[in-house]
This record gives sequence, structure tokens and C-alpha cells, in this order.
Amino acid sequence: HQSKLPNVGTTIFTVMSALANEYKALNLSQGFPNYPSSQKLNDLVTDAMNNGYNQYAPMAGNLDLRIAISNKYELLYKSTYHPEKEITVTAGATQAIYSIVSAFIRPNDEVIIFKPAYDCYQPAVEVNGGKTIPIQLSAPGYKVNWEEVASKITSKTKMIMINSPHNPSGTIWSKDDMLQLQNLTKDTNIIVLSDEVYEHIIFDGEKHQSACLFKDLKQRSFITASFGKTFHNTGWKIGYCCAPEDLMIEFRKVHQFNVFSVNHPAQKGIADYMQDSDTYLGLNRFFQKKRDLFLSLISESRFMFTPSKGTYFQVLDYSNITDEYDLDFAKRLTREFKIASIPLSIFNENDKDDKVLRFCFAKTDETLVKASEILCKI
Ligand code: PMP
Ligand code: GLN
Repeated sequence: HQSKLPNVGTTIFTVMSALANEYKALNLSQGFPNYPSSQKLNDLVTDAMNNGYNQYAPMAGNLDLRIAISNKYELLYKSTYHPEKEITVTAGATQAIYSIVSAFIRPNDEVIIFKPAYDCYQPAVEVNGGKTIPIQLSAPGYKVNWEEVASKITSKTKMIMINSPHNPSGTIWSKDDMLQLQNLTKDTNIIVLSDEVYEHIIFDGEKHQSACLFKDLKQRSFITASFGKTFHNTGWKIGYCCAPEDLMIEFRKVHQFNVFSVNHPAQKGIADYMQDSDTYLGLNRFFQKKRDLFLSLISESRFMFTPSKGTYFQVLDYSNITDEYDLDFAKRLTREFKIASIPLSIFNENDKDDKVLRFCFAKTDETLVKASEILCKI
């Protein structure tokens, strides 16, 4: 057969986690916590199972959960999403992203993506026959040149995908970036897919600039989110998307046939857990401590860095240490120094190598101490 994705291999997250396991290395590569998720949340999911939430959830998601999500947008952003018409619960953000693209992208449509880009964006576009138009950003600032973006928008541009706080770089977009995007897409049919899975992980008192805060932009935006990031349980694969009703109608046409609905007891448990807003509002503080600990412990190492502004990733520049290609260096660190990371070239256009690696700090303090001891020896 002729592959629909000839240039796609196995995702780097699977590759590096497997290598970490093979060499018994500390795994700071794939992004997931190595401490347990909340006992209270686990108990609420168990309660949901014992209380009969064991059959199909409604197609768009458990209504209590959609109401809890809607309340969150009111509380944090004073933004209204109708729980029945404008919010759909998905199998993680990945399925939301895939289904959004499937619902709107036709062969030869153009989708603008910013690189480094999270690795599920481009294949989702290509398998649906679309074409990605990359805009390459550069370390360490990863700043967007909005004139360049303007020059890449054509009559074929159907979608722009954005992601702040940004995986893998740990940078965030400012209010001005969002206003520029709003202006450039005004009076167009371009759909904005705003991947906000790290909305609750933002540091140094910065404010998350959600697409829903910009009235005109909101009208053409999907926001995607992931409870795996927020509640430390990436294995549950529960996320959601929200969008104005006209867009959500099209989304659900696809969603109902590629998954129909997702794990019901987990949805009900999360809904009950979210009744207390501290469960998600406390996340910034929790991860700021982890970031600060990690950075203070590696300050004497030969790695250079700009502190992460959001996400639970820190990018480290190793150009003082070696000029090896980043994938080779990441693999060697795993084998020889027993620490695994993610090379950024994988997410770049033409494997652009800025000599930076991404380390996940969603780890116990003990693991962060061990990791920094290793990093200080390299
Ligand atoms: N987008 C980004 C930027 C991510 O980092 C991730 C997961 N790490 C996802 C989407 C996918 O989220 P989920 O695991 O909920 O599918
Ligand atoms: N999003 C996680 C990361 O960036 C990985 C998710 C996955 O393995 N697909 O590390």
C-alpha cells in the first residue's frame, strides 16, 4: 500500500521513554508526572463507578462535567460557553485536535503551524489531505514575527494552530500576540485552533491569554484542553474542546463517529472534583516550586537556559558542552548518563537543530535532585 503518512515514524515520546526504560535512566523525556494523582479524585471516580456511571456517557460528555467546565470559563475569563451546545468532552486533547482538523480540513487546504510544533498537529492535517504551512520560530525567545504570518495567509488558509503556554519551548504568548492574531484573521473564515492544555501552568505571575478573552477571535476559535495535564493523570486521556455553537455542530458530526463518547466514571469524578476551584487554581504554585527548585539545582551546570514561563517543561541549551546533533546527544545522555530528555529538532522545520533539549519537571523533588546531580556532571 501507499502510505498516507510517508514521513511519519514512531513518535519521539515513545522512542525516548522506551530508551529510558531500556537503560534504566531517569525519564524526564515524555511529559507525565511520576507522583500519584489526588486520592480524593481517585475516590470520586470510584464513587462514580459504584453509583452506576458505567454505561455510555452522553455523546458530548457528562453534563455535570460540561457545566463544571463552563463555570471555569466564567470564573477565570468571564467568558461564556454554553455547556450543552459549546463544550464537548474528548479522549484527551489529541482526539479533540484530530477531530477538529477532520471536521474542517479538505484536501489542499492550508493550515499554518508554528514550529517547534507539538507532534500531533502536522500528521492530523496531512492524513486529512491538508497542507501545513510552517512558521519557524527560533530559540531562545521563540518570538513570532507577525509580518511573516501575514505574508503566509492566502485564500487557501483554512486554519491556524496556536499553543500557549508552549510545548516544547516553555514560552507564552502575550496579549499583543493574541491581538495581532485577532486582527490578521478578522473578517476571514479562518478557524483558529488554540491548544491551551497548559493554561493552568504559567509562572512568575503571568496571565494566560486564552483565545476566549478576545471577543472577535473567540467567534472563530476552538480551545482544546486536557485534564491529564491539570490533574496529574495523563493516562486517563480525558480532555475537551469548546467553540461557538456553529463550529461545535460540525465538530460533533465527526466526534460522534470516531469515538462517540469517552470514559464515563472518570468524567463524573472529574466533574465532582472541579466543584472546588482550588483543584485547578493551585497548579501554578505547585509547578512554580518545581521549576524554581530544578533551575536552582542546575544553576552551576554547563547548560544554559531561559526560565520556562509555562508548561512543565524546561529547555536547556547544551551548545557549551558539545556540537552533537540534538537527537544523538539526547540518546547518548540516556545511555551514558542515565537521563532521558526530548530533542527539539524533531518539532522543527527540516530538523533545525538549535542545540536544545527539553526536560520535564513534573517529577518528585527527589527525582529533580537526582536529575540535577547528573546534569551538573555533564
Ligand atoms: N497538546 C499539547 C501541546 C500537549 O503537550 C499534549 C500532551 N502533552 C497534548 C496536546 C495532548 O493531550 P492529551 O494527552 O490530553 O491527549
Ligand atoms: N504531551 C506529552 C509530551 O509532550 C507526550 C504525550 C505523548 O506521549 N503522546 O511529552
